[in-house]
Amino acid sequence: MDLAASWLVPPKALPDIYPAKIGDLLVASFEEVLGKQNFEKALRQAGLDISATDVPDLPFGAPARLSEALEEIYGEQAGHGLCLRAGRVMFHRGLRVFSGILGLSHRSFRLLPSGQKVLRGMDLLAWLLNHYSDQRVRVEKHSRELLFINEKCPHCWNLKKVSPCCQLTVGVLQEGLAWAANGKQYSVEEISCRANGDSACTYRIIRKPLAL
Ligand SMILES: [Zn+2]
Repeated sequence: MDLAASWLVPPKALPDIYPAKIGDLLVASFEEVLGKQNFEKALRQAGLDISATDVPDLPFGAPARLSEALEEIYGEQAGHGLCLRAGRVMFHRGLRVFSGILGLSHRSFRLLPSGQKVLRGMDLLAWLLNHYSDQRVRVEKHSRELLFINEKCPHCWNLKKVSPCCQLTVGVLQEGLAWAANGKQYSVEEISCRANGDSACTYRIIRKPLAL
């Protein structure tokens, strides 16, 4: 095949990857929530050979298998609760790593009104996931709600469930929204999930903060 013809061949499809830069945050967050011993037990249950001190690029199936293992060990409800907590921890760990790249400490972001910070923060999170992993995320802004839509979610990759199961992302969003809005809490619910046969995992955020 000559060179000109080879340009017409589409590149080989890359595997769907959760890169080490983000996988490292995921692993550290689960280890923090579970404790070292329980985390190692969950990794064994999931069949994952991962060292918390040297996290490789993870195929999308790995985070999903870890969530599944937690459900197997602790039951569905407690497993979801652990993923939710890991997501909250992961947001703060991610903030330390990506704040500079995303310009979150720049005054042009810090001085925005909290509602604008929420909108900008959602766009930045979507950009981050699209840019640093093979996820495909977009944000829809409606008058009363925001939709955070992930068409390639690694947390339920190849899972089959009867109800939404991507609690880690719910935790990331809950904590991220509270951070952006100076402590105000928002309702975040996964309203569709690829594990239920939907085309995307969709998280609905009610724009009016919860009254506490
Ligand atoms: Zn999902």
